[in-house]
Amino acid sequence: MKNTEPAGALPLPFSGKNYHKNESDCSQDEPCAICGKGIRSPTWYVRVVDGGGRFASEEEVVPEASDMGWHAIGNTCIGENPALRAIARLGLP
Ligand SMILES: [Zn+2]
Repeated sequence: MKNTEPAGALPLPFSGKNYHKNESDCSQDEPCAICGKGIRSPTWYVRVVDGGGRFASEEEVVPEASDMGWHAIGNTCIGENPALRAIARLGLP
């Protein structure tokens, strides 16, 4: 975990360095929404809004059309992003 970054900085969805390569190599329907790698047993989910433009908390009110729903996040990416962990939930609603 990088302690130099503020805990408030959220990563962007689908923004991992090799997301597109990982995602196309992955046989799962729903790979990690940050790095694109497969998740053996999905545990953490984070809501994606703005048509995939950013993550949001469960409480935030957004236009229905921009709400992309809950996306699985791998344990590694959750561990590296404390701000994301803060708005993630265990399992799907
Ligand atoms: Zn990941």
